Amino acid sequence: MRDMAERVVHVADGMGASYADCRVVQREREFISVKNAKIENLNSGDDMGVGVRVIVDGGWGFASTNRLDDTSLQNCVRRAVEIARSGARVRKYPVQLAAEPVYVDEWVRPVQIDPFTVDMATKLELLTESSKAMLKEGAKIARASLVFERDTQVFASSEGSLIKQVLTESGGSLYAMAVGKGHTQVRTYPCTVWHDIQGEGWETIEKRDLLGNAPRVGSEAVQLLSAPPCPEMTTDVIIAPNELALQIHESVGHAVEADRILGHEADLAGTSFIDSEMLGHYRFGSDKVNLFADPTLPGSRITYKYDDEGVKAGRVDLVKDGILVGLTTSRESAHELGYDRSGGCMRANNYDRIPLVRMPMVSLAPGDISYEDLIASTERGILLDQNRSWSIDDRRLNFQFGSEVGWLIEDGQITQMVRDPIYADITPAFWSRCDAIADEKDWRIMGYACGKGTPGQDGRVAHGCSHARFRGMDVGAKTS
Ligand SMILES: [Zn+2]
Repeated sequence: MRDMAERVVHVADGMGASYADCRVVQREREFISVKNAKIENLNSGDDMGVGVRVIVDGGWGFASTNRLDDTSLQNCVRRAVEIARSGARVRKYPVQLAAEPVYVDEWVRPVQIDPFTVDMATKLELLTESSKAMLKEGAKIARASLVFERDTQVFASSEGSLIKQVLTESGGSLYAMAVGKGHTQVRTYPCTVWHDIQGEGWETIEKRDLLGNAPRVGSEAVQLLSAPPCPEMTTDVIIAPNELALQIHESVGHAVEADRILGHEADLAGTSFIDSEMLGHYRFGSDKVNLFADPTLPGSRITYKYDDEGVKAGRVDLVKDGILVGLTTSRESAHELGYDRSGGCMRANNYDRIPLVRMPMVSLAPGDISYEDLIASTERGILLDQNRSWSIDDRRLNFQFGSEVGWLIEDGQITQMVRDPIYADITPAFWSRCDAIADEKDWRIMGYACGKGTPGQDGRVAHGCSHARFRGMDVGAKTS
Protein backbone atom coordinates (compact mmCIF):
# COMPACT_ATOMS: atom_id res chain seq x y z
CA MET A 1 0.00 0.00 0.00
CA ARG A 2 2.88 2.37 0.84
CA ASP A 3 4.54 1.81 -2.56
CA MET A 4 1.27 2.40 -4.36
CA ALA A 5 0.57 5.65 -2.50
CA GLU A 6 4.07 7.00 -3.17
CA ARG A 7 3.89 5.95 -6.83
CA VAL A 8 0.60 7.81 -7.34
CA VAL A 9 2.03 10.98 -5.77
CA HIS A 10 5.09 10.67 -8.04
CA VAL A 11 2.89 10.38 -11.14
CA ALA A 12 0.93 13.50 -10.06
CA ASP A 13 4.22 15.37 -9.63
CA GLY A 14 5.17 14.43 -13.17
CA MET A 15 1.84 15.73 -14.52
CA GLY A 16 2.44 19.21 -13.11
CA ALA A 17 0.72 19.12 -9.70
CA SER A 18 2.16 21.71 -7.30
CA TYR A 19 0.77 19.55 -4.46
CA ALA A 20 -0.58 16.00 -4.43
CA ASP A 21 -1.72 13.54 -1.83
CA CYS A 22 -2.95 9.98 -2.10
CA ARG A 23 -4.94 7.77 0.26
CA VAL A 24 -4.99 4.01 -0.21
CA VAL A 25 -7.81 2.57 1.89
CA GLN A 26 -8.73 -1.04 2.55
CA ARG A 27 -12.03 -1.49 4.44
CA GLU A 28 -13.38 -4.64 6.08
CA ARG A 29 -17.01 -4.57 7.20
CA GLU A 30 -19.54 -6.82 8.91
CA PHE A 31 -23.17 -5.96 9.62
CA ILE A 32 -25.64 -8.33 11.27
CA SER A 33 -29.21 -7.66 12.35
CA VAL A 34 -31.86 -9.90 13.81
CA LYS A 35 -35.52 -8.85 13.71
CA ASN A 36 -38.12 -10.68 15.77
CA ALA A 37 -35.66 -13.50 16.47
CA LYS A 38 -34.94 -14.10 12.74
CA ILE A 39 -31.87 -13.03 10.77
CA GLU A 40 -32.70 -9.83 8.87
CA ASN A 41 -29.25 -8.88 7.51
CA LEU A 42 -25.97 -10.69 7.47
CA ASN A 43 -23.38 -9.12 5.25
CA SER A 44 -19.67 -8.88 5.30
CA GLY A 45 -17.18 -7.72 2.73
CA ASP A 46 -14.15 -5.67 2.01
CA ASP A 47 -13.03 -3.20 -0.61
CA MET A 48 -9.90 -1.32 -1.48
CA GLY A 49 -9.15 1.71 -3.59
CA VAL A 50 -7.15 4.85 -4.13
CA GLY A 51 -8.14 8.52 -3.93
CA VAL A 52 -5.80 11.18 -5.30
CA ARG A 53 -6.07 14.90 -4.62
CA VAL A 54 -4.00 17.45 -6.54
CA ILE A 55 -3.49 21.19 -6.83
CA VAL A 56 -2.80 22.31 -10.42
CA ASP A 57 -2.80 25.98 -11.50
CA GLY A 58 -4.16 26.82 -8.03
CA GLY A 59 -7.29 24.61 -8.32
CA TRP A 60 -8.28 21.36 -6.58
CA GLY A 61 -8.82 18.10 -8.45
CA PHE A 62 -9.84 14.74 -7.01
CA ALA A 63 -10.35 11.32 -8.58
CA SER A 64 -10.51 7.77 -7.30
CA THR A 65 -10.38 4.20 -8.55
CA ASN A 66 -10.62 0.66 -7.26
CA ARG A 67 -8.60 -0.63 -10.23
CA LEU A 68 -5.11 -0.83 -8.89
CA ASP A 69 -3.00 -1.64 -12.00
CA ASP A 70 -0.51 0.99 -13.21
CA THR A 71 -2.57 2.13 -16.22
CA SER A 72 -5.72 2.65 -14.14
CA LEU A 73 -3.78 4.56 -11.47
CA GLN A 74 -2.23 6.83 -14.14
CA ASN A 75 -5.65 7.46 -15.67
CA CYS A 76 -7.00 8.29 -12.22
CA VAL A 77 -4.25 10.86 -11.63
CA ARG A 78 -4.80 12.32 -15.12
CA ARG A 79 -8.50 12.79 -14.35
CA ALA A 80 -7.70 14.58 -11.07
CA VAL A 81 -5.27 16.88 -12.91
CA GLU A 82 -7.86 17.68 -15.63
CA ILE A 83 -10.50 18.48 -12.99
CA ALA A 84 -8.03 20.75 -11.17
CA ARG A 85 -7.18 22.62 -14.39
CA SER A 86 -10.87 23.14 -15.21
CA GLY A 87 -11.66 24.26 -11.67
CA ALA A 88 -8.71 26.65 -11.56
CA ARG A 89 -10.22 28.71 -14.42
CA VAL A 90 -13.23 29.72 -12.31
CA ARG A 91 -11.51 30.22 -8.96
CA LYS A 92 -11.19 33.77 -7.63
CA TYR A 93 -7.83 32.99 -5.97
CA PRO A 94 -5.46 30.01 -5.90
CA VAL A 95 -5.67 27.36 -3.16
CA GLN A 96 -3.09 27.87 -0.45
CA LEU A 97 -2.45 25.51 2.44
CA ALA A 98 -1.40 26.27 6.02
CA ALA A 99 2.03 24.76 6.67
CA GLU A 100 2.31 21.35 8.33
CA PRO A 101 5.41 19.34 9.30
CA VAL A 102 6.22 16.18 7.35
CA TYR A 103 5.50 12.89 9.17
CA VAL A 104 6.57 9.33 8.51
CA ASP A 105 4.64 7.26 11.03
CA GLU A 106 2.41 4.29 11.72
CA TRP A 107 -0.42 4.21 14.26
CA VAL A 108 -2.88 1.48 15.22
CA ARG A 109 -6.01 2.34 17.25
CA PRO A 110 -5.81 0.01 20.27
CA VAL A 111 -8.27 -2.90 20.33
CA GLN A 112 -8.49 -5.57 23.03
CA ILE A 113 -10.53 -8.20 21.16
CA ASP A 114 -10.53 -8.11 17.36
CA PRO A 115 -14.28 -8.21 16.54
CA PHE A 116 -13.65 -10.03 13.25
CA THR A 117 -12.21 -13.00 15.19
CA VAL A 118 -15.35 -13.51 17.30
CA ASP A 119 -17.30 -16.36 15.72
CA MET A 120 -20.59 -15.76 13.97
CA ALA A 121 -22.50 -18.21 16.20
CA THR A 122 -21.67 -16.10 19.29
CA LYS A 123 -22.84 -12.92 17.53
CA LEU A 124 -26.07 -14.48 16.26
CA GLU A 125 -26.90 -15.99 19.64
CA LEU A 126 -26.46 -12.62 21.38
CA LEU A 127 -28.73 -10.88 18.86
CA THR A 128 -31.37 -13.62 18.75
CA GLU A 129 -31.63 -13.89 22.55
CA SER A 130 -31.77 -10.08 22.89
CA SER A 131 -34.54 -9.90 20.29
CA LYS A 132 -36.50 -12.67 22.07
CA ALA A 133 -36.17 -10.84 25.41
CA MET A 134 -37.73 -7.69 23.91
CA LEU A 135 -40.54 -9.71 22.27
CA LYS A 136 -41.27 -11.36 25.62
CA GLU A 137 -41.98 -7.90 27.09
CA GLY A 138 -44.59 -7.26 24.38
CA ALA A 139 -42.61 -5.42 21.69
CA LYS A 140 -44.10 -5.71 18.17
CA ILE A 141 -40.76 -5.19 16.44
CA ALA A 142 -37.60 -6.27 18.27
CA ARG A 143 -34.37 -5.67 16.41
CA ALA A 144 -30.82 -6.24 17.63
CA SER A 145 -27.79 -5.44 15.49
CA LEU A 146 -24.01 -5.42 15.38
CA VAL A 147 -21.63 -3.58 13.06
CA PHE A 148 -17.84 -3.80 12.76
CA GLU A 149 -15.45 -1.97 10.48
CA ARG A 150 -11.70 -1.76 10.05
CA ASP A 151 -9.89 0.69 7.77
CA THR A 152 -6.24 0.15 6.96
CA GLN A 153 -5.14 3.34 5.26
CA VAL A 154 -1.94 4.84 3.93
CA PHE A 155 -1.55 8.55 3.26
CA ALA A 156 1.31 9.91 1.15
CA SER A 157 1.89 13.52 0.08
CA SER A 158 4.21 15.33 -2.29
CA GLU A 159 5.59 17.13 0.77
CA GLY A 160 7.04 13.79 1.94
CA SER A 161 4.54 12.57 4.56
CA LEU A 162 3.89 8.81 4.63
CA ILE A 163 1.43 7.72 7.31
CA LYS A 164 -0.22 4.35 7.92
CA GLN A 165 -3.18 4.08 10.30
CA VAL A 166 -5.33 1.06 11.23
CA LEU A 167 -8.72 2.07 12.63
CA THR A 168 -11.11 -0.57 14.03
CA GLU A 169 -14.60 0.19 15.31
CA SER A 170 -17.49 -1.77 16.80
CA GLY A 171 -21.14 -0.99 17.49
CA GLY A 172 -24.33 -2.72 18.49
CA SER A 173 -27.82 -1.65 19.45
CA LEU A 174 -31.34 -2.66 20.42
CA TYR A 175 -34.60 -1.32 18.98
CA ALA A 176 -38.06 -2.12 20.34
CA MET A 177 -41.29 -0.83 18.84
CA ALA A 178 -44.61 -1.21 20.67
CA VAL A 179 -47.98 -0.64 19.01
CA GLY A 180 -51.35 0.00 20.65
CA LYS A 181 -53.80 2.59 22.01
CA GLY A 182 -53.71 4.38 18.63
CA HIS A 183 -49.96 5.05 18.48
CA THR A 184 -46.54 3.49 18.25
CA GLN A 185 -43.65 3.95 20.65
CA VAL A 186 -39.98 3.18 20.34
CA ARG A 187 -37.20 2.56 22.84
CA THR A 188 -33.62 1.97 21.81
CA TYR A 189 -30.33 1.23 23.50
CA PRO A 190 -27.78 2.69 23.61
CA CYS A 191 -28.52 4.94 20.66
CA THR A 192 -31.34 5.48 18.19
CA VAL A 193 -30.05 4.71 14.71
CA TRP A 194 -26.30 4.64 14.52
CA HIS A 195 -25.54 1.63 16.77
CA ASP A 196 -23.37 3.80 19.05
CA ILE A 197 -20.17 2.80 17.27
CA GLN A 198 -16.96 3.08 19.31
CA GLY A 199 -13.30 2.90 18.34
CA GLU A 200 -12.85 -0.34 20.23
CA GLY A 201 -13.15 -4.07 19.60
CA TRP A 202 -15.59 -6.75 20.78
CA GLU A 203 -14.95 -5.53 24.36
CA THR A 204 -17.28 -2.57 23.69
CA ILE A 205 -20.13 -5.02 22.91
CA GLU A 206 -19.44 -6.94 26.12
CA LYS A 207 -19.45 -3.71 28.17
CA ARG A 208 -22.83 -2.54 26.91
CA ASP A 209 -24.58 -5.82 27.84
CA LEU A 210 -27.25 -5.89 25.12
CA LEU A 211 -28.90 -9.01 26.52
CA GLY A 212 -29.08 -7.58 30.07
CA ASN A 213 -30.72 -4.39 28.79
CA ALA A 214 -33.14 -6.04 26.34
CA PRO A 215 -36.01 -6.68 28.84
CA ARG A 216 -35.90 -3.03 30.02
CA VAL A 217 -35.88 -1.69 26.44
CA GLY A 218 -38.83 -3.88 25.40
CA SER A 219 -40.77 -3.12 28.58
CA GLU A 220 -40.25 0.67 28.37
CA ALA A 221 -41.52 0.73 24.77
CA VAL A 222 -44.72 -1.00 25.97
CA GLN A 223 -45.04 1.25 29.05
CA LEU A 224 -44.85 4.35 26.82
CA LEU A 225 -48.13 3.31 25.15
CA SER A 226 -49.96 4.01 28.42
CA ALA A 227 -47.88 7.00 29.53
CA PRO A 228 -49.47 10.47 29.40
CA PRO A 229 -48.16 12.91 26.78
CA CYS A 230 -45.46 15.32 27.95
CA PRO A 231 -47.27 18.36 29.44
CA GLU A 232 -46.80 21.74 27.76
CA MET A 233 -44.74 23.77 30.20
CA THR A 234 -41.75 25.99 30.79
CA THR A 235 -39.45 24.00 33.02
CA ASP A 236 -35.90 22.89 33.78
CA VAL A 237 -34.70 20.22 31.39
CA ILE A 238 -31.98 17.65 32.03
CA ILE A 239 -30.75 16.15 28.79
CA ALA A 240 -29.17 12.67 28.78
CA PRO A 241 -25.91 12.09 26.86
CA ASN A 242 -27.62 10.05 24.13
CA GLU A 243 -29.83 13.08 23.33
CA LEU A 244 -27.30 15.82 24.12
CA ALA A 245 -24.68 14.29 21.80
CA LEU A 246 -26.90 14.98 18.79
CA GLN A 247 -27.71 18.46 20.14
CA ILE A 248 -23.95 19.14 20.26
CA HIS A 249 -23.59 17.71 16.76
CA GLU A 250 -26.27 19.87 15.15
CA SER A 251 -26.02 23.16 17.04
CA VAL A 252 -22.26 23.26 17.75
CA GLY A 253 -20.38 20.78 15.56
CA HIS A 254 -21.82 21.95 12.23
CA ALA A 255 -21.96 25.61 13.28
CA VAL A 256 -18.17 25.83 13.82
CA GLU A 257 -17.08 24.10 10.58
CA ALA A 258 -14.76 26.54 8.82
CA ASP A 259 -15.66 25.36 5.31
CA ARG A 260 -19.31 26.28 5.93
CA ILE A 261 -18.40 29.58 7.59
CA LEU A 262 -16.17 30.50 4.61
CA GLY A 263 -18.84 29.47 2.08
CA HIS A 264 -16.88 26.54 0.59
CA GLU A 265 -19.64 24.05 1.46
CA ALA A 266 -23.36 24.47 2.02
CA ASP A 267 -25.16 21.19 1.37
CA LEU A 268 -27.57 19.52 3.81
CA ALA A 269 -28.64 22.44 6.04
CA GLY A 270 -25.19 23.75 5.59
CA THR A 271 -24.29 27.35 6.41
CA SER A 272 -23.70 28.86 9.85
CA PHE A 273 -24.75 31.82 11.97
CA ILE A 274 -21.12 32.03 13.13
CA ASP A 275 -18.62 34.42 11.59
CA SER A 276 -14.86 34.25 12.25
CA GLU A 277 -15.08 37.86 13.51
CA MET A 278 -17.09 36.56 16.50
CA LEU A 279 -14.14 34.59 17.92
CA GLY A 280 -12.88 35.72 21.30
CA HIS A 281 -15.90 37.75 22.39
CA TYR A 282 -19.21 36.17 21.22
CA ARG A 283 -21.25 34.66 24.06
CA PHE A 284 -22.25 31.22 22.80
CA GLY A 285 -23.48 29.89 26.15
CA SER A 286 -23.33 30.26 29.92
CA ASP A 287 -19.96 30.31 31.69
CA LYS A 288 -20.53 26.59 32.53
CA VAL A 289 -20.23 25.70 28.84
CA ASN A 290 -16.84 24.49 27.59
CA LEU A 291 -16.80 22.78 24.21
CA PHE A 292 -13.77 21.38 22.44
CA ALA A 293 -12.70 19.07 19.61
CA ASP A 294 -10.16 16.36 20.36
CA PRO A 295 -9.80 13.22 18.20
CA THR A 296 -6.83 12.08 20.30
CA LEU A 297 -9.16 11.13 23.18
CA PRO A 298 -9.11 7.31 23.26
CA GLY A 299 -11.93 4.96 22.37
CA SER A 300 -14.11 6.89 19.93
CA ARG A 301 -14.91 5.89 16.35
CA ILE A 302 -12.99 8.96 15.20
CA THR A 303 -9.98 8.61 17.46
CA TYR A 304 -7.04 9.15 15.11
CA LYS A 305 -3.48 10.44 15.17
CA TYR A 306 -3.53 12.13 11.74
CA ASP A 307 -6.42 13.43 9.68
CA ASP A 308 -6.94 12.61 5.99
CA GLU A 309 -4.64 15.38 4.79
CA GLY A 310 -1.77 14.29 7.04
CA VAL A 311 -2.24 16.85 9.81
CA LYS A 312 -1.33 15.67 13.31
CA ALA A 313 -4.45 15.88 15.48
CA GLY A 314 -4.75 17.67 18.81
CA ARG A 315 -7.24 19.54 20.99
CA VAL A 316 -8.99 22.63 19.64
CA ASP A 317 -11.02 24.71 22.12
CA LEU A 318 -14.27 25.89 20.55
CA VAL A 319 -16.16 27.52 23.45
CA LYS A 320 -14.36 28.50 26.66
CA ASP A 321 -16.41 29.56 29.69
CA GLY A 322 -19.27 30.30 27.29
CA ILE A 323 -17.27 32.42 24.82
CA LEU A 324 -16.72 31.26 21.22
CA VAL A 325 -12.96 30.82 20.73
CA GLY A 326 -12.32 28.34 17.92
CA LEU A 327 -13.39 26.64 14.71
CA THR A 328 -12.75 23.26 13.08
CA THR A 329 -10.45 23.70 10.10
CA SER A 330 -8.57 22.17 7.17
CA ARG A 331 -5.19 23.30 5.84
CA GLU A 332 -6.97 25.39 3.20
CA SER A 333 -9.49 27.05 5.54
CA ALA A 334 -6.83 27.56 8.24
CA HIS A 335 -4.71 29.49 5.74
CA GLU A 336 -7.71 31.56 4.63
CA LEU A 337 -8.50 32.41 8.26
CA GLY A 338 -4.88 33.40 8.93
CA TYR A 339 -4.15 30.50 11.33
CA ASP A 340 -0.64 29.01 11.62
CA ARG A 341 -1.88 25.42 11.36
CA SER A 342 -4.95 23.36 10.53
CA GLY A 343 -6.90 21.91 13.44
CA GLY A 344 -6.56 18.46 11.82
CA CYS A 345 -10.28 18.02 11.07
CA MET A 346 -10.25 16.74 7.45
CA ARG A 347 -11.69 13.33 6.82
CA ALA A 348 -13.12 11.43 3.88
CA ASN A 349 -15.78 8.74 4.03
CA ASN A 350 -13.64 6.29 2.06
CA TYR A 351 -11.03 6.24 -0.71
CA ASP A 352 -13.61 7.45 -3.25
CA ARG A 353 -14.53 10.74 -1.53
CA ILE A 354 -12.57 13.96 -1.13
CA PRO A 355 -11.80 14.93 2.49
CA LEU A 356 -14.10 17.53 4.07
CA VAL A 357 -13.95 19.42 7.36
CA ARG A 358 -15.52 16.97 9.81
CA MET A 359 -16.19 17.60 13.47
CA PRO A 360 -13.50 15.62 15.36
CA MET A 361 -14.95 14.55 18.73
CA VAL A 362 -16.70 17.86 19.39
CA SER A 363 -17.53 17.43 23.07
CA LEU A 364 -18.97 19.18 26.11
CA ALA A 365 -16.48 19.20 28.99
CA PRO A 366 -17.77 17.59 32.21
CA GLY A 367 -18.91 19.77 35.11
CA ASP A 368 -18.44 19.31 38.86
CA ILE A 369 -21.75 17.90 40.14
CA SER A 370 -22.62 14.20 40.33
CA TYR A 371 -25.53 12.91 38.24
CA GLU A 372 -27.40 12.05 41.44
CA ASP A 373 -26.97 15.60 42.81
CA LEU A 374 -27.98 17.07 39.45
CA ILE A 375 -31.36 15.31 39.71
CA ALA A 376 -31.69 15.95 43.47
CA SER A 377 -31.07 19.69 43.04
CA THR A 378 -33.83 20.04 40.40
CA GLU A 379 -37.10 21.05 42.08
CA ARG A 380 -39.35 20.77 39.01
CA GLY A 381 -38.20 19.52 35.65
CA ILE A 382 -38.00 16.77 33.09
CA LEU A 383 -35.25 14.33 32.13
CA LEU A 384 -35.14 13.75 28.38
CA ASP A 385 -33.64 10.47 27.24
CA GLN A 386 -32.61 9.32 23.77
CA ASN A 387 -33.14 11.37 20.64
CA ARG A 388 -36.07 10.41 18.42
CA SER A 389 -36.24 13.30 15.93
CA TRP A 390 -34.35 16.45 15.07
CA SER A 391 -34.74 19.50 12.88
CA ILE A 392 -32.53 22.57 12.60
CA ASP A 393 -32.41 25.45 10.15
CA ASP A 394 -29.65 26.08 7.60
CA ARG A 395 -27.83 28.54 9.84
CA ARG A 396 -27.87 26.17 12.83
CA LEU A 397 -29.93 28.54 14.96
CA ASN A 398 -33.59 27.48 15.34
CA PHE A 399 -34.15 23.85 16.25
CA GLN A 400 -36.69 21.37 17.51
CA PHE A 401 -35.69 18.02 18.99
CA GLY A 402 -37.86 15.12 20.12
CA SER A 403 -36.96 12.39 22.61
CA GLU A 404 -38.11 8.79 23.02
CA VAL A 405 -39.06 9.31 26.64
CA GLY A 406 -39.37 12.01 29.30
CA TRP A 407 -39.21 11.44 33.05
CA LEU A 408 -40.81 14.12 35.23
CA ILE A 409 -38.73 15.37 38.17
CA GLU A 410 -40.56 16.60 41.27
CA ASP A 411 -38.83 17.75 44.45
CA GLY A 412 -35.51 16.35 43.24
CA GLN A 413 -36.86 12.90 42.38
CA ILE A 414 -37.74 11.15 39.13
CA THR A 415 -41.46 10.40 39.39
CA GLN A 416 -43.30 9.63 36.15
CA MET A 417 -42.72 8.59 32.54
CA VAL A 418 -44.23 10.83 29.81
CA ARG A 419 -44.35 10.15 26.08
CA ASP A 420 -43.49 12.13 22.92
CA PRO A 421 -41.56 14.99 24.54
CA ILE A 422 -40.24 17.75 22.28
CA TYR A 423 -38.29 20.94 22.96
CA ALA A 424 -37.37 23.90 20.80
CA ASP A 425 -34.96 26.80 21.18
CA ILE A 426 -32.36 29.02 19.49
CA THR A 427 -28.74 27.83 19.73
CA PRO A 428 -27.06 30.60 21.83
CA ALA A 429 -30.18 31.02 24.02
CA PHE A 430 -30.24 27.27 24.63
CA TRP A 431 -26.56 26.99 25.64
CA SER A 432 -26.96 30.13 27.82
CA ARG A 433 -29.61 28.28 29.88
CA CYS A 434 -27.07 25.62 30.90
CA ASP A 435 -26.48 25.98 34.64
CA ALA A 436 -25.07 22.56 35.60
CA ILE A 437 -23.22 19.69 33.91
CA ALA A 438 -22.65 16.30 35.51
CA ASP A 439 -19.08 15.27 36.31
CA GLU A 440 -16.53 13.04 34.62
CA LYS A 441 -18.01 9.84 36.11
CA ASP A 442 -21.15 10.44 34.04
CA TRP A 443 -19.27 11.51 30.89
CA ARG A 444 -19.53 9.18 27.89
CA ILE A 445 -18.84 9.11 24.18
CA MET A 446 -21.60 8.47 21.63
CA GLY A 447 -20.63 7.32 18.11
CA TYR A 448 -22.79 8.68 15.30
CA ALA A 449 -22.80 9.17 11.53
CA CYS A 450 -23.25 12.47 9.69
CA GLY A 451 -24.30 13.34 6.15
CA LYS A 452 -22.32 16.09 4.44
CA GLY A 453 -21.23 17.14 0.96
CA THR A 454 -22.11 16.34 -2.65
CA PRO A 455 -21.64 13.56 -3.59
CA GLY A 456 -22.88 12.65 -0.12
CA GLN A 457 -20.56 11.38 2.57
CA ASP A 458 -21.99 9.38 5.45
CA GLY A 459 -19.08 10.24 7.72
CA ARG A 460 -18.08 9.04 11.16
CA VAL A 461 -18.52 11.37 14.13
CA ALA A 462 -18.52 11.01 17.90
CA HIS A 463 -19.37 13.32 20.77
CA GLY A 464 -18.57 13.19 24.46
CA CYS A 465 -20.84 14.66 27.14
CA SER A 466 -22.58 13.98 30.44
CA HIS A 467 -26.11 14.88 31.62
CA ALA A 468 -26.61 18.67 31.59
CA ARG A 469 -29.37 20.94 32.91
CA PHE A 470 -30.98 23.81 30.99
CA ARG A 471 -33.14 26.29 32.92
CA GLY A 472 -36.55 27.52 31.77
CA MET A 473 -37.03 25.54 28.54
CA ASP A 474 -40.31 25.29 26.64
CA VAL A 475 -41.33 21.64 26.28
CA GLY A 476 -44.45 19.91 25.02
CA ALA A 477 -45.64 16.78 23.24
CA LYS A 478 -45.37 15.86 19.57
CA THR A 479 -48.88 16.07 18.14
CA SER A 480 -48.75 13.80 15.08
ZN1 LIG B 1 -24.25 16.13 10.72
